[in-house]
Amino acid sequence: MPDLTGRCACGAVTFSVEAPKTYGACHCEMCRRWTGGVWMGVVCESEPEVTGPLKVWKSTRIASRGFCPDCGSSVWHRPRRAKFPTLGQGLFDDQAGWTMTREIMAEDRPDHYAFGTGAKSFTGWGTLWAVVTGRLPK
Ligand SMILES: [Zn+2]
Ligand SMILES: [Zn+2]
Repeated sequence: MPDLTGRCACGAVTFSVEAPKTYGACHCEMCRRWTGGVWMGVVCESEPEVTGPLKVWKSTRIASRGFCPDCGSSVWHRPRRAKFPTLGQGLFDDQAGWTMTREIMAEDRPDHYAFGTGAKSFTGWGTLWAVVTGRLPK
């Protein structure tokens, strides 16, 4: 049963989903351009129930990204072979009690920002896949 809710900036796209209150930050160039900053992804434990005009962009051969066509909010990233998408952490209504558990594509992080949360840093795309498939904790 979905237990967390969220929405895009304008409210046209809403979702409810089962998800842990943990997330990873991705420093890759694609995520930086797509979000205008840093993508912080929550690996879902159910298929999100989405309402509204969500649009999907096939960003690479192996993944697609969902966004709100009205306000442009980055909503989800979905590796083609993943069971469920990762949803943007900043979209969730309840912002209490979350933990950043990993930073991925750390080698791509520009040197003008850093989080300092104590989250483990990983390099390469394999990290995302390891999280999605359960070999690394969410
Ligand atoms: Zn919107
Ligand atoms: Zn990325």
